[in-house]
Amino acid sequence: VIARWVEQHGEDFSDFGRKNCFQLNDTHPACAVPELMRLLMDEHGLEWDDAWDVVTRCMAYTNHTLLPEALERWSVGLFSRLLPRLLDIIYEINARFLKLVDQQWPGDVAMRREMSLIEEGDNPHIRMAYLAIVGSFSVNGVAGLHTQLLESGLFKHFNTLWPRKFNNKTNGVTQRRWLSHCNPGLRELLNETIGDGWQKDLTKISDLASHATDADFRKKWIEVKRQNKARLSDLVVAETGVRFDTSFMFDVQVKRIHEYKRQLLNVLHIVHLYDRILRGETAGMVPRCVLIGGKAAPGYHVAKLIVKLINDVAKKVNNHPAANDLLKVVFFPNYRVSSMEVICPATELSEQISTAGKEASGTGNMKFMMNGALTIGTLDGANIEIRENAGAENFFLFGLNASEVTELKKDYRPNEIIAADDDIVRIMNLLESGHFNPDNPGLFDLLTSGLRNPQDPWVTIADLRAYINSQAEVAKAYQDVDHWNQMSILNTAGSGWFSSDRTIQQYADDIWDVRPLS
Ligand SMILES: *Cc1c(COP(=O)(O)O)cnc(C)c1O
Repeated sequence: VIARWVEQHGEDFSDFGRKNCFQLNDTHPACAVPELMRLLMDEHGLEWDDAWDVVTRCMAYTNHTLLPEALERWSVGLFSRLLPRLLDIIYEINARFLKLVDQQWPGDVAMRREMSLIEEGDNPHIRMAYLAIVGSFSVNGVAGLHTQLLESGLFKHFNTLWPRKFNNKTNGVTQRRWLSHCNPGLRELLNETIGDGWQKDLTKISDLASHATDADFRKKWIEVKRQNKARLSDLVVAETGVRFDTSFMFDVQVKRIHEYKRQLLNVLHIVHLYDRILRGETAGMVPRCVLIGGKAAPGYHVAKLIVKLINDVAKKVNNHPAANDLLKVVFFPNYRVSSMEVICPATELSEQISTAGKEASGTGNMKFMMNGALTIGTLDGANIEIRENAGAENFFLFGLNASEVTELKKDYRPNEIIAADDDIVRIMNLLESGHFNPDNPGLFDLLTSGLRNPQDPWVTIADLRAYINSQAEVAKAYQDVDHWNQMSILNTAGSGWFSSDRTIQQYADDIWDVRPLS
């Protein structure tokens, strides 16, 4: 970019900041801040103040996570060996920034330590997110709740200093891949019903809403879903050997394996259904195929153990004759975009069950909604906006909200919750007695002791009863085929907001200041 600039404008950088914008996609490219300073000063002769003006006019930062343990920190020692000049520049950025902090909070040493770009200690580290914030004119979160929590939590002091820097850009997904390409049956049905304008302007998909009450249209809607379920069944049997009956409800949770996403909560519900089958209390149950898929990071031991548990529970359930016509469970291996293209068109129930306040946005939730799945979910990330756009009556909400989670953590007693609820006692007994791992006693103790720990950051047990009850509501709703499919149609009809076309237009209007050519 600089080479091209110099070709056109020579060494005059006074307009460079106005004409260029670099969107830092997470903290991974945060070194762009000191590196652009270095280029402008060392290679193009600018003074500090002029270079800093340019940098802070063209850098913008998107944050993607609220988990403090996921924020990048790089050791000063490593930096001084590999990038000594950038370290010099970071120190100077920090010295000037801390003067500003001292103007805002005079003499407040604790605040200086908290906000410094350098985390002090035996082995000091550079806080890359803070470097990105200080060097940028815009800082955005990726869903409404996420941005609010950045402003009031993780980055609250920065928000006090620079409230106008912070803004929201709710994520989106492209309807060209996540509807048109991956769901040709639905594409053709939409085209013949509302025209094909939705492919370029997804807000037009709201025209579908008026067809939700049309019985002939619903018949076609159901037939498209049936064919997509048959296509996924073929993939599942090829990948796992398990047969999914297309008359069963397809209940799906696919996403990276992480404790905050609470695949374990899903497993606890599966064990509950299995337990009800064993004791013969199946009234109101609806036959389900539950699919869980996702990759675990190689070094994330607990996540790998969750994958093992899903596989062991699936083996037991799928081999029990009493469960045969009520429940099938698979762990779908090697989950990836090309598998999601087959999975989301076939899904009827989308599991979005993270601990409230932890999922920045989610985008899987949007792919499912676009393809007519109903969501069972917490008030987290973009689920909140999905519920607003689908209508609260077309969304299965359960569990604590973000502020209730914060409040609960002051005095969380999972063992008391378990002891007071017979169903939950039975679930924990099955897991802790080794029912699913007879050849490997104690294998899952790390998981069950985590659930019972008052310090459990994901408060899984706190949401379990509400989740089981909400799943019973799902089962009841699924039995009313007409109403279920009305709700399904209204989810697709409400998905216009979640096009990445809308997201990119907002970045263009509010951050990049670029307009389309006439
Ligand atoms: C959409 C998608 C994701 C993101 O899923 P979330 O549920 O939002 O975490 C992850 N992996 C793949 C392969 C996807 O297609």
